Amino acid sequence: MQEPTQDHLIGTTVDGRYTVRSRLARGGMSTVYLATDLRLERDVAVKVLHPNLANDPTFLQRLSREAKAAASLSHPHIVGVLDQGEDGHIAYLVMEYVKGHTLRDVMTEQGALPPRLALALIDPVIEGLAAAHGSGLIHRDIKPENVLIADDGRIKVADFGLARAVSANTSTGALIGTVAYLAPELVLGQAADARSDIYSAGIMLYEMLTGKQPYAGDSPIQVAYQHVNSVVGRPSDVAPGLADDLDELVQWCTATDAENRPVDGTALLTELRHIRTTLTDEQLDHRQSPAPTPHSPAYAPESAPVGSPAGNPTEALATTASPTEFISQQRNPTTIMAAAGSGLQRSTQDPTDHDLNQPGKRELKRIERQQAKDRARAAATPVRQLREGNPRRRGIIWAVVIVILALLAATAGWFFGMGPGSPGTIPDVKNKTVAEAQQLLRTAGFQSEPRDVFDDDILPGYAVGTEPRSGAEVRKFQSVTVFVSKGAQLFPLPTLTGGTLAEAKTALNAAQMALGNVTEAFDDKVPAGVVISQDPATGKEVRHGTPVALVVSKGPQPIPVPDVRGLAKDAAIKALQDVGLKAVVAPDKVFDKLPDNGVVSQSPANGTLVKGDTVTLTLSKGPKMVKVPNFVGKNADAAEKELKSLGFEVLRKQDVVILNLVLVQNPVNIEVPEGSPITLTVV
Ligand code: ADP
Ligand code: MG
Repeated sequence: MQEPTQDHLIGTTVDGRYTVRSRLARGGMSTVYLATDLRLERDVAVKVLHPNLANDPTFLQRLSREAKAAASLSHPHIVGVLDQGEDGHIAYLVMEYVKGHTLRDVMTEQGALPPRLALALIDPVIEGLAAAHGSGLIHRDIKPENVLIADDGRIKVADFGLARAVSANTSTGALIGTVAYLAPELVLGQAADARSDIYSAGIMLYEMLTGKQPYAGDSPIQVAYQHVNSVVGRPSDVAPGLADDLDELVQWCTATDAENRPVDGTALLTELRHIRTTLTDEQLDHRQSPAPTPHSPAYAPESAPVGSPAGNPTEALATTASPTEFISQQRNPTTIMAAAGSGLQRSTQDPTDHDLNQPGKRELKRIERQQAKDRARAAATPVRQLREGNPRRRGIIWAVVIVILALLAATAGWFFGMGPGSPGTIPDVKNKTVAEAQQLLRTAGFQSEPRDVFDDDILPGYAVGTEPRSGAEVRKFQSVTVFVSKGAQLFPLPTLTGGTLAEAKTALNAAQMALGNVTEAFDDKVPAGVVISQDPATGKEVRHGTPVALVVSKGPQPIPVPDVRGLAKDAAIKALQDVGLKAVVAPDKVFDKLPDNGVVSQSPANGTLVKGDTVTLTLSKGPKMVKVPNFVGKNADAAEKELKSLGFEVLRKQDVVILNLVLVQNPVNIEVPEGSPITLTVV
């Protein structure tokens, strides 16, 4: 419904330079178009702020921040910004055009991705982030929608719209970004730093590897709550068979305390690339079977010693590749290329290959080819070896760990069997009062804490739900939060009057409000098509989804012109004023049968006008006076002819005519109005 506002841009040329060709994507705040840069004769992407936001300083600021942030970075994995400006009501940003799709598209199409593809996709993202972090910038909205994948496999991070310089005061107070990828410190309104991007990237990697986001919830607040109060699970719990190193990598990035995450993109990139070299081909090509199967022992060196205390940890660890090998591989980009290439070839020839998702493989091939190119370019950059250490020392540490674990297991038996660690099921407390809800939970063995949340549906004071959710099997010592409704969250309504209906719809959409009844009304001041009034009014605080009724102008009401001819001047003027028209009297009066000041004619005489328009009246100055000559004793026919030529009306009175002479004439010898009747008595 709101398309017409912006789609009229297609075919037009912005700022005399960018001819808009088609729409690429439309978001809450902007629309991205494919356009041709006439000056440099190339394709570009143009992001245009929605018209109702183009006058809003906050959004203009966001656009210019994006321009500045991206312009300060020139990096192969960051979408380049070429230009920014305003043209009339349009605020726009010109970017290099990345022909292709987004990481979200890949994930929607393929679900869980094989680790080889997931790592190939996330590597350039992290590289782009590392460059941003290196320049003191944080992205703050890392998510699959903002990762663009070109058809030739180049990968670029887009949308630096929320980016901020780290040195600036980066605390926002408000939740920004998408709640699914939001770092806990941002949920808590604390300052963001490079590690907040790392967290989002970690959630994204989790989703790539498992096809699922780590946190689900009925409402964004529940998801946000989990970012703060839960720990992201191991991807392999959801996607059995994933390598432990990948679990560890995801958990490192998504540590609740930022202190426990990689310090920035560069740190993560180093570890990511290291892990990539340690994984076997089976691990890299591991695919999620539709029905999860028990953990496959494809890569068990770290779990084996735990299960068998007598085992030799050193031996088990020795099965991992030797560190020297990593170094030599990393130092020599050609080796890595060869390794990636051969891995790919092997799996291509694998007889089970038919089961594999062909589009996914093409994607991977393209991306790997592109990354090989990138690496060749960036050759000779030595990569630091993170995991050093002497296998013997690691062996001793393992042994100690195992003993401690055994002791812990004994204690845990009691704790989890009957103690506070025994499991219980969370009851459903929705729509119960807080007291009832807490009582229900107590009966089920749980201690609970109430927490106020906004809710559109549940009455204030009643329970919305719990965290963990009802039906969940959890240990009784775990504390349960009861979300208590404080009613719907209210938001001020934007101003919709003064803009077109289409603009009002866009603004409502952006404010997450609904369009209510639309009625039309005549209005003398507001042009046709423009919103005259809204209900509820601007600034009124309402809940999301509230329908807003609009009255749209049909322009001024047409008034049929009344016929005032024959009326006296004052009556005519009043008759016109009564219907809202103005009367103007023509300067010259004319002779007319009508008495003085009678309306002889009017202009216009019919049709319609609008309020305040003018009707011009021509008035009578009464009839012309003419002297009546005397025809008494004259020939009647001659007299009649003469009188008629003077404009009189002639009435003859006669019985028997013998002489045909005028015997009596009335009136006679005086001035009378032109056209008056003259009586001739004829004998
Ligand atoms: P928003 O600020 O509205 O989130 P984004 O910059 O994330 O805007 O762009 C929204 C969508 O537009 C992206 O997900 C992508 O599909 C498309 N897009 C953005 N920039 C480009 C580009 N440079 N080339 C091609 N498509 C793009
Ligand atoms: Mg975006």
